[in-house]
Amino acid sequence: MQDCLFCHIVDGDIPSTKVFENEYVLAFKDIHPVAPVHVLLIPKIHIQDTNHITDENVRYITEIYRVVDQVAEICGIKEEGYRIICNCGEDAGQMVPHLHFHLIGGAKLGEKII
Ligand code: 5GP
Ligand code: ZN
Repeated sequence: MQDCLFCHIVDGDIPSTKVFENEYVLAFKDIHPVAPVHVLLIPKIHIQDTNHITDENVRYITEIYRVVDQVAEICGIKEEGYRIICNCGEDAGQMVPHLHFHLIGGAKLGEKII
């Protein structure tokens, strides 16, 4: 996908602080963290949002959930706990149109969202 910020990060054209990577998933630190640990997990192919998950690309999403505990362990928050957030579309405030999961933790988080 041309001119997609996160595709450029996957390609290495735009630098990021990588936390974890495998064939399907890249995890890197959010540039504006909202908590001591704030990592983004993204599929390494362009998927716009959760409305664009298909039979063909779903492996990239299941893989994110398969490795999230490894990423949490690397970040030192596996046992204490964490929150995963995925925004889809305008009302949710999705700013980058490449599907991503926020992994947030490292402190007592606030009450549930909204
Ligand atoms: P959204 O609001 O789309 O769910 O979240 C997008 C996230 O991407 C935000 O938390 C924002 O801080 C992060 N972000 C935006 N641009 C960059 C960037 O160039 N590098 C990194 N590492 N994170 C970014
Ligand atoms: Zn993309």
